[in-house]
Amino acid sequence: MNDSNTNDQPLSPLPTFAELGIDPEVLRAISQAGYESPLPVQAACFGPILDGRHVVVQSRTGSGKTAAFILPILHRLRYEERRPQLLVLAPTRELALQVHQEFERLGQGTGLESVCLYGGTRFTEQLDRLRRGVHVVVGTPGRVLDHYRRRTFLVDGVAALVLDEADEMLSVGFEEEIRRILHALVGLEQVMLFSATLPMSLQGLISRYMRDPVFLDLSQDRVDVDRIENVAYQADPHVPKMRTLMAVVEAEDPPAAIIFCNRRKTTESVTAYLRRRGFDASLLNSDLSQADREAVMARMKAGHQRLLVATDIAARGIDISQLPCVIHYDLPEDMQLYVHRTGRTGRVDRHGRAISILTANDNEAVKSLDRTYGIKLTLLETPTREETLHMLADRRIREMKDKIDAGRVIPEEFQTIAQEILAEPDAESLVALLVDSYLSAPPPAPARETPQAYHPKTRQGGTGGDAPGPGGGPAAPGSGQRPFRQGSRRRGGGRGGGRRS
Ligand code: AMP
Repeated sequence: MNDSNTNDQPLSPLPTFAELGIDPEVLRAISQAGYESPLPVQAACFGPILDGRHVVVQSRTGSGKTAAFILPILHRLRYEERRPQLLVLAPTRELALQVHQEFERLGQGTGLESVCLYGGTRFTEQLDRLRRGVHVVVGTPGRVLDHYRRRTFLVDGVAALVLDEADEMLSVGFEEEIRRILHALVGLEQVMLFSATLPMSLQGLISRYMRDPVFLDLSQDRVDVDRIENVAYQADPHVPKMRTLMAVVEAEDPPAAIIFCNRRKTTESVTAYLRRRGFDASLLNSDLSQADREAVMARMKAGHQRLLVATDIAARGIDISQLPCVIHYDLPEDMQLYVHRTGRTGRVDRHGRAISILTANDNEAVKSLDRTYGIKLTLLETPTREETLHMLADRRIREMKDKIDAGRVIPEEFQTIAQEILAEPDAESLVALLVDSYLSAPPPAPARETPQAYHPKTRQGGTGGDAPGPGGGPAAPGSGQRPFRQGSRRRGGGRGGGRRS
């Protein structure tokens, strides 16, 4: 395999979107999405994909890889032919939906029609859309195969395939489905494989189904980690670990965070514990229905949910682009998952914070993080029980005072009851009971506006500094294949190619 590593290239300025030769209607959609300039992976992929080359792209999650294949593909579709021309396979429903949404966002104005096929819901809706005619199909392998077998998804016109998070698709057991799909795609001319890692199991697929692929390595796992402060708190072995979590959440006070647990049961008890203490926490694990998963993700993305307690279902691919913090309530058993979970924060050009709660059993894992990924956890002092309770009380009192200051009208009778309570010999227990009922109805989290401005109370050290991105190398001439459309609409300098093998 002839690997090319764009990180080794001298940094050259990245081209603008217009310089890549992107059509005006797509430029408008890009600008509406708020993207000012191409990210390295987008600059590197544009030329080769537009040229019809097979590509193997090693790219970390959160690097902008979705738009990296969408933008050139939008220039290759034959919009006048309403039949599937591109298939994108993704390992989870959430990721498939996300890719689909990005297609709709960037493709508006082009006449693009697409459908997202995934299990759990909406079979009829998917059928309707397929019948009306689509250019692009995005889906999870199981459901895509299902539609193919029922002949509701006609694959004759599919000329290109994207395997997104390919390593993850294999590791969750989709290899057989992928092979069947590849076998069924008789008109396939271009395969684009995106993966954070390239395990041996992928090599077979690459050599069997990809012709003279361009290898682009934009993985940058280390760089990713440089943008993220990795800190840790030691859990007190004599008290339940959830108390340490509460202390950490109080001390760090993140505007939003995903709390990762290794088991579903733990997510349930942690969520219940936090909610009982007045935190705005929700659960995300595979027991949830698809509709509930989507609802909770949408709340989180919109900034209406502060804490999401999740299993690793949320670790891959999911983009909550403004997430300032992840908390590893349990360190994962496989340290690669630490990197994927942590990749939920500090996305693209933002800083993030990854917090681990350590027990005595984690010593080996901490060493392995350093050895394998060069990630050193900065140990911070865990607040004492008293400090935590003070912080918790302070916050509640502040919240209540804010309500009074905001002019909340309290009926006169309540003032009288309050006086009577305070005159009782067991006033403290009675007030505690009131606090209990107050905390059982946690206030909704305010919408996040500037999450980057998150400054944890305990913040120490940290690496900081934006990671240098690799430059986009000059575009090499492509093979000239045009599976969807003859004649490129590419204009401008075409500086977006990566090095290739
Ligand atoms: P992805 O790696 O595809 O999940 O993308 C991660 C995030 O980067 C998403 O929130 C995208 O909306 C965002 N993104 C993609 N391209 C750009 C760009 N050129 N500039 C800024 N943000 C981008």
